[in-house]
Amino acid sequence: MAQRTLVLIKPDAVRRGLVGQILSRYEEKGLTLVAMEQRTIDAAMADAHYAEHVEKPWYPPLREFATSGPLVALVLEGDEAISVVRRLNGATDGRQAEPGTIRGDMSLSNRENMVHASDSEESSARETALWFPDL
Ligand code: ADP
Ligand code: MG
Repeated sequence: MAQRTLVLIKPDAVRRGLVGQILSRYEEKGLTLVAMEQRTIDAAMADAHYAEHVEKPWYPPLREFATSGPLVALVLEGDEAISVVRRLNGATDGRQAEPGTIRGDMSLSNRENMVHASDSEESSARETALWFPDL
């Protein structure tokens, strides 16, 4: 079933010049780029995006990180795109993520882990509307 998913290429990836490599992985897989925008977000946007995590003890440094510089937001479309992109991204903690995944190959951190992707149809709908209200 064709789905859309909201992906963020996080500020660590932008700083390290890895946006192109990450985009290539999604394109090589066959996913279609529906929307893409580079932007720097404020704390309110970070809190809206990470609403489920704002009370976690590790959230304040995550907010600092998310607002620390430009990120690239995109919407990808394809068959079972939500689970496909989660698998391409790999486990949350880059130290544990499997080699061959984006996080497994590019991240050594559980916070600065390069990418975000929606984890369900509900979060995809919510996040896509939050980041791309005109879509
Ligand atoms: P995912 O991005 O894999 O869906 P979560 O939704 O659990 O992971 O967490 C959101 C983001 O918060 C992670 O991608 C990561 O940047 C950060 N994060 C998660 N857990 C921790 C933690 N224990 N310590 C620091 N940062 C974390
Ligand atoms: Mg998550």
